[in-house]
Amino acid sequence: MTVTYNRVALIGLGLIASSMAHAMRAGGFSGEIVGHAKSAETRDIAFEIGFCDQVFATAAEAVQGADLVVLAVPVGAMSSVAAEIGPHLKSGATVTDVGSVKQAVIAAVAPHIPADVNFIPGHPMAGTEYSGPRAGFATLYRNRWWLLTPNAETDLAALASLRSFLEGLGAKVDTMDAAHHDLVLAVVSHTPHLIAYTMVGVADHLAQVSNSEVIQYSATGFRDFTRIAASDPTMWRDVFLTNREAVLDVLGRFTEELFALQRAIRMGDGPLLHEYFTRTREIRRGIIEAGQDTSAPDFGRVAAAQKPAGE
Ligand code: NAP
Repeated sequence: MTVTYNRVALIGLGLIASSMAHAMRAGGFSGEIVGHAKSAETRDIAFEIGFCDQVFATAAEAVQGADLVVLAVPVGAMSSVAAEIGPHLKSGATVTDVGSVKQAVIAAVAPHIPADVNFIPGHPMAGTEYSGPRAGFATLYRNRWWLLTPNAETDLAALASLRSFLEGLGAKVDTMDAAHHDLVLAVVSHTPHLIAYTMVGVADHLAQVSNSEVIQYSATGFRDFTRIAASDPTMWRDVFLTNREAVLDVLGRFTEELFALQRAIRMGDGPLLHEYFTRTREIRRGIIEAGQDTSAPDFGRVAAAQKPAGE
């Protein structure tokens, strides 16, 4: 990893931040990693695992002297954290965030960042349904996209340093306008999560299908919904509250498509259903060709299940 920062401060020490710290170490980062999280329990765990060299009781202390500050807290907490750290940031430092929504985070954070500090918003498109300081692992970002949303005033040297730092974590970096980011994410992540939450909720309501049947036969597709629907409730509450417009737009389109398919089923319109499913299959093919998922049947689960326990 090219060392561009001597001291990196992670604010929030959950899945995303701890994975960054593990990836930094695995990539040979030789600088200091310091951190802060809200609860003493999380701070203690981070220190015990050892992915931070120093853990501070306040965000203000943690950012002092840091060349790079990463805001890795839920989107709803970004504003108060930014307000706290603003006066303590080192001149010339870079602040980035990892929030899943960009326009709302920029509105919450930018007013608190001094003029001599670079704020470059970001979003790693990687995660799992687990959260907290124990959930992190070094390969989370390997070959995954990390989107940055700079604007016309962004310092290009600071942007280049951040880009090479993130590439050192294994990520592929791209830049995008913040509003466009929020729309893209509403399509590829936020609305699919909402649909998964809804589907799991529907199964929960269906009295004719017992809970044991849902669990026993879940491998037929429902299981993938349950994995997504197990994602962190705080994070996802904040995503929907802050990316409201884009999600409502995509949900409106989703509802129209759903009604069209509902009508095709009611009318027995086989050709329409077949043509529709042929098109969607092409999209899946595109995702595999782009290296964004495995082509192994059942997402490679059979192979995983055959591995000895403990791997
Ligand atoms: P997480 O595992 O739940 O960790 C969140 C961390 O933020 C915890 O250490 C928590 O501390 C801390 N925190 C919360 N409020 C705080 C505050 N007011 N001051 C200081 N620390 C605070 O969450 P995560 O999955 O790492 O997500 C963090 C961010 O990454 C979110 O903005 C999310 O949108 C974004 N993101 C997540 C994913 C994903 O799949 N998980 C993917 C991409 C981006 P305590 O433990 O003490 O409460």
